[in-house]
Amino acid sequence: MDWPQVKGRIEKDYPLKTLCTWKIGGPGKIVYWPQEQEDLVRIVLWCRTQKKPFVLLGRGSNVLLPDEGLNCLVIVSTELKNISWLENIVQVEAGYPLMLLARECAKRSLQGLEFAAGIPGTVGGALAINAGAYGGEIGGLVRELTVLTPEGKRIVLPREEIAFGYRCSSLQAKKYYILESTFELQVNDSKILLERIREFNSKRKNTQPLEFPNAGSVFRNPQGHSAARLIEAAGWKGYRVGGAQVSEKHANFIVNRGDAKAAEVRELIQLIQTDVFHKFGIQLQTEVKMF
Ligand SMILES: Cc1cc2nc3c(=O)[nH]c(=O)nc-3n(C[C@H](O)[C@H](O)[C@H](O)COP(=O)(O)OP(=O)(O)OC[C@H]3O[C@@H](n4cnc5c(N)ncnc54)[C@H](O)[C@@H]3O)c2cc1C
Repeated sequence: MDWPQVKGRIEKDYPLKTLCTWKIGGPGKIVYWPQEQEDLVRIVLWCRTQKKPFVLLGRGSNVLLPDEGLNCLVIVSTELKNISWLENIVQVEAGYPLMLLARECAKRSLQGLEFAAGIPGTVGGALAINAGAYGGEIGGLVRELTVLTPEGKRIVLPREEIAFGYRCSSLQAKKYYILESTFELQVNDSKILLERIREFNSKRKNTQPLEFPNAGSVFRNPQGHSAARLIEAAGWKGYRVGGAQVSEKHANFIVNRGDAKAAEVRELIQLIQTDVFHKFGIQLQTEVKMF
């Protein structure tokens, strides 16, 4: 296909399994890593005018990619990782690793992102779904965001114009692509913040199956319930379909025990949804985005 004037790496027939934490997925026909924000803007505009479908990924830590691969363009944001600091304000591009940002902030005595030090996504992916843990959510720390609208316009949104909810945001609903975020953080002793990170991460290690490829929580918590408890109570812990297994450690995680296929993960998801609905009358919704 014709290609616009953009900088950055391009690969053909690239294994999607290397682009996601579940390590599942067939070939991506064309995968592109924009080098600068302007390249992302250009390629999105080009896709729009050429009517070419595309998919945007960050670190791929909240997605299930198909076994048959993707025929459309896959844009990966992970090269967009400029960052600048001014007192308690940090301005960071969408592809910056969230874990690294959380740790950097703590080292600089900036409080707020400690909860995110074990979340393996990018800043953009985290903002799109308002990632959170241990009582913290990323949305609450935003001062303003630079986004690309579906029409290809770059706009700056102040915090007041963005709605963040439980694992959702108005950004996602409006199909905005996050280019850059400015966070406003509190000042605190870095020793306290690093200790908090250590505690959160050791809690994660004890309760989550980090030894196997996974995509974090598969299902959203239904209002007033824990998805993990419902799945465990329904007897699914440890159940396996091919290489996909409901974690023995945390029932809301499906782990890849070897060569798991997306079809096996999907089957497991459907089996769990049907059974949990049958037993408790609760419809579990997926948190992972399934392509
Ligand atoms: C071990 C483990 C632990 C986890 N723990 C947590 C947790 O505690 N809390 C939590 O909330 N999540 C958790 N997750 C899930 C996941 O890490 C987060 O949701 C993360 O923020 C997703 O970011 P990503 O860059 O990987 O997004 P991706 O998985 O690449 O994409 C997810 C969605 O966001 C969209 N997206 C990506 N980048 C952008 C962008 N720049 N602009 C607009 N949309 C974009 C994609 O199109 C896709 O729809 C965990 C995952 C793992 C594997």
